[in-house]
Amino acid sequence: MKAMKKRHLQTVQELEENFHITAREAQEWIMQKVRSHYQNKLNTLRTFLDLYQDTVEKKKADWEKKVAELIAQNKQLLEEQSAERRRWKEETLQWQKEKSKMLDLFSSRLDVLHCHQASTLQELQMARQEIGQVQEILTVSSSQEQQEAAEEEEGSDNKEQTVACSVSDQPLEGANARLEGLKESLYQKEREISELLEAERSPIPPVPQPHCSILLPTVITKAHEICSAVAESRALLNQMIEDNQVALAEARDKLRLHLQSTKDESNDKEKTTNQDGSDESSLSFLQGTLREHEVCQIALDRIKSGESPVMNDYEMSEMEDILRQETLPTTQRSVKGVGQQLLLLQDQLKREKEERKKIIENYTSERAMRKKYYNMVEEMKGKIRVFCRIRPVNRSEATQGGAVVVDKLDDYSITVEAPRGPREFQFDKVFSARASQEELFQDVNRLMQSVIDGYNVCIFAYGQTGSGKTFTMVGDKDQKNPGIMPRSFNAIFDIMRENSSKFDFKVSAYMLELYNDRLQDLFVSQAGEAHSQTQSHGPTKRVEIKRNRKGVVFAQGAETKEASSAQELYALFQQACANRHISATRMNVESSRSHLIVGIMVESRNLTNGSVNTGKLSLVDLAGSERAAKTGAKDHQLKVCSCVILLQGSICLK
Ligand code: ADP
Repeated sequence: MKAMKKRHLQTVQELEENFHITAREAQEWIMQKVRSHYQNKLNTLRTFLDLYQDTVEKKKADWEKKVAELIAQNKQLLEEQSAERRRWKEETLQWQKEKSKMLDLFSSRLDVLHCHQASTLQELQMARQEIGQVQEILTVSSSQEQQEAAEEEEGSDNKEQTVACSVSDQPLEGANARLEGLKESLYQKEREISELLEAERSPIPPVPQPHCSILLPTVITKAHEICSAVAESRALLNQMIEDNQVALAEARDKLRLHLQSTKDESNDKEKTTNQDGSDESSLSFLQGTLREHEVCQIALDRIKSGESPVMNDYEMSEMEDILRQETLPTTQRSVKGVGQQLLLLQDQLKREKEERKKIIENYTSERAMRKKYYNMVEEMKGKIRVFCRIRPVNRSEATQGGAVVVDKLDDYSITVEAPRGPREFQFDKVFSARASQEELFQDVNRLMQSVIDGYNVCIFAYGQTGSGKTFTMVGDKDQKNPGIMPRSFNAIFDIMRENSSKFDFKVSAYMLELYNDRLQDLFVSQAGEAHSQTQSHGPTKRVEIKRNRKGVVFAQGAETKEASSAQELYALFQQACANRHISATRMNVESSRSHLIVGIMVESRNLTNGSVNTGKLSLVDLAGSERAAKTGAKDHQLKVCSCVILLQGSICLK
């Protein structure tokens, strides 16, 4: 049993060993299999990885190449951009130069137009004066004729004529209808004279009595009036008087010599009856000639002195005799001369009327052209222009050791040293710290003519507190360096003075303060306002910014005051400033919250055609820009009018 147990145990042991060996071998085999499987997989993955790596490397190389290309391209573009910038800057400068040249050209053309306009106006005024005089003459003649006609109708025997002159007070414009009537009566007279001239060719009918007593004084009075009104006629009359005096002296000498010789020969016994006859005829001829010149001299003297001939019955009948006898041709010749003068005068009047019409047309069109060109030039400069003014460093800034970080590059650009490097800004004009108030105003001055021409102009200063807005707009305290406002007042009144012969002007102004989002009328003092409120005079007038139908912005409820001189306007401005919320002591604190708005309206009435234009100049000294947000003022509250200039007082200190 023991032996069997032992054998069994040996067998179990052997089996166990075999099992272990087999299990180990199987495990090894499996391990081997798994290993080779994973090895295969690993190999496959490696192959994939290698492939992927190849692709990635290829792509990387591609991208690197592309990046390099892009960098090169970018560099090139940057170079191109800077070149473009340089070119653009050069072109801008060139363009600005061209613009200045154009402006100069326009200015010179405008000056020429101005001169031409002035001389045209002068001529126009002269023509108007002459026409006025001629009209007066015609008015006087007309009333005289009416008087004569009335007297004629009454059949009065009284031949003494008294001339009563009445000068019409009607204005020139309203006299056209009357001028036509007067012209008609002038034509009537002309016809009478023509009939008389016609009569020279036909057998002379007996002169009717009324013609002599009425026509002669009328003709002489008219001729005198013509001569005193028209310079050429006056010269002609003087010449005629001189010629006639010479002819009269000659006729007298001839008659004296003839009488002398007749007397000497009176004892000559060889004289024949025939000779007697010829002597008598030559004597009567010489006497006739002398008489002719004497009558002519009297007539010319009368015309010159303007005295109406006052003749008694005897003189009148003598005159009738003269007319009936040999002196009639002389009188007719005088009448003919006066008639011709009248015709000439009428012609001249017609020409002058046409000329006047032409001059008015020329003047009107030239004025319109001047206005167009002038404002075209201004518009070419830009409807909105932004100027930049650099304030000089003040004493405290200098002692603090501050450095100026803003630099004027040229007339149109500045650079500012910003934390991220220098930055460039462009403006319509840049004024350096050395620029004077006068220099600055030169660029604004031309806009004053636009205001007079009926345009709306607005100039306002923008910038932070202490940047020089008030200095630029108003000037220093003692007005040694007046700013834009006082200079504008003077410029407007200067232009008005120059044009006073052509226009009638009216200047009015309102002055407001926008303080704490409320518009305050500066012509109404706060003390007075408070008083009126306590006296229960009702609520104070509210000032509101409105726009009328024409789109013109106006301050409803603000008091406007008229000014007749620049000094008066400046006094109004000072009065308004006294009513501001800011005072000298609180200036720095309060000025940053107070906007000052000055509105100046210029109404001009053209004296030639009666047209009326209204232009407006708005001058604004804004509150400090750093406080603009705090005031709560919205965009639309800060909006102003059509033509705006923005002035930026600017300085940066490190
Ligand atoms: P703002 O109105 O912008 O607050 P101010 O006009 O009151 O600034 O100017 C501040 C100070 O600087 C004033 O004393 C003024 O006289 C001075 N100032 C400003 N601009 C100039 C300038 N261009 N030349 C000389 N002084 C100036």
